[in-house]
Amino acid sequence: GAAPESDTEARAFLARHAGGFRHFINGGFVASKGGETFETFEPATGRALARLAKGDAADVDAAVAAARKAQGPWAKLSGHQRARHLYALARMIQRHARLLAVVETLDNGKPIRETRDIDIPLAARHFYHHAGWAQVGEREFADHLPVGVVGQIIPWNFPFLMLAWKVAPALAAGNTVVLKPAEYTSLTALLFAELCEAAGLPPGVINIVTGDGETGSLIAAHAGIDKIAFTGSTEVGRLIRQATAGSGKALTLELGGKSPFIVFEDADIDGAIEGIVDAIWFNQGEVCCAGSRLLVQEGIAETFLARLKRRMETLRVGPPLDKCIDMGAIVDPVQLERIDRLVKAGVAEGASLYQAPCPLPASGCFYPPTLLSGVQPASTAAQEEIFGPVLVSMTFRTPDEAVMLANNSRYGLAASIWSETIGLALDIAAKVQAGVVWVNATNLFDAGAGFGGVKESGFGREGGREGMLEYLKPKGWEKRKPRPAA
Ligand code: NAD
Repeated sequence: GAAPESDTEARAFLARHAGGFRHFINGGFVASKGGETFETFEPATGRALARLAKGDAADVDAAVAAARKAQGPWAKLSGHQRARHLYALARMIQRHARLLAVVETLDNGKPIRETRDIDIPLAARHFYHHAGWAQVGEREFADHLPVGVVGQIIPWNFPFLMLAWKVAPALAAGNTVVLKPAEYTSLTALLFAELCEAAGLPPGVINIVTGDGETGSLIAAHAGIDKIAFTGSTEVGRLIRQATAGSGKALTLELGGKSPFIVFEDADIDGAIEGIVDAIWFNQGEVCCAGSRLLVQEGIAETFLARLKRRMETLRVGPPLDKCIDMGAIVDPVQLERIDRLVKAGVAEGASLYQAPCPLPASGCFYPPTLLSGVQPASTAAQEEIFGPVLVSMTFRTPDEAVMLANNSRYGLAASIWSETIGLALDIAAKVQAGVVWVNATNLFDAGAGFGGVKESGFGREGGREGMLEYLKPKGWEKRKPRPAA
């Protein structure tokens, strides 16, 4: 195979911060006021990767104060001027795409093929797209104002892409940001802070505070913040909803999923098999909208599963900087243990287990592509989000039964429907409870299309016009008593 991607430039970036990464507040890097730090590890090797500042109440106060001070002047810029900043950030991302991809792969464990071809290019695209909105928005949203100071809390599965999804629309609409990356994966956010500095973004427009859930809860509860945008687990989403209830803060939640992947007997089988590979083994299955529940029509189930198993045997799991690798490392030993526990629960509940016999590296957080077939619809494996490379499968006889099984979930993020009868596919699409439905396709993301869930997958949309409106409020609200400065 090809030589692994070189990590020399990324190691130099890490070495520059060997004394410890700091928060990015008011346009500069600052240590935690309380001096607390924490360590992160490389999932593929288990080796220590970086030491980071742990944000405390004083740090969050400082970040909110900087964002508040910057917000008026940022919102007063013309749409054109804000667009120029967003274009500059997009170009910076493209110029440093390789470095961003390697840092992301080291930090998260995902394959370089994906960070290079998906995470980083889609992030740049998000900034380009929203630079457009900054200009057009001036007329389109003339009867709206920015929400103000936005607190953004993001997960570890797409660290840089989720940052882009949050930051780009917020800035385009005239808000300023206090962002907290996930504790496992903060490095591309801090690299982005360096790029913001280099691009001449005004101080305070973006502030990045690193830390764990405790730091996140300080942001969620902060009185100087006007809106919280959260992506993460449904459990933490619930805590944030409680913490913000009655506070007057706006809130959007992008939460978990257990999305159905429905294959009818007239489907293009080759296409559906490749779709499944993308749906559940892309990013080690650590994808909120992963097609993690395969519903296959009874008549083709046996041959379909047999072919799927053969395809699973060809997936390569290994060191993520290797350009030929399909699946890298799971983000952390705690997540790995959780995946294994849920698979064992599935087996205990009567499912048949198939794991591709692919060689795994001797150390690091690796898990093989896994299929649990014949799961009971009410079982743990069928209901719980596993958030790993584990597909569960069930069969159905009729379209009605497919819809019933698909909707038998507390989640409603995405769905993928495979049939060569377009009338049938569209009929099912209208009946499935999901924020996003793909027909004969999966995992298609576009900055122009709103993404988000229903039911316990959350509310609010990211991307496109709907996504912009989440960062705006109708005029008239400004007559409310202003929030006290933090
Ligand atoms: P998580 O909820 O554990 O953590 C997400 C973020 O919240 C992290 O930054 C974490 O530090 C912070 N946090 C933790 N406790 C907090 C608290 N009490 N108050 C405030 N912040 C707190 O989720 P995770 O394990 O990082 O991510 C996996 C989950 O994210 C999965 O459920 C996945 O489906 C979901 N996800 C959803 C989407 C989407 O768009 N719907 C996208 C990606 C991931």
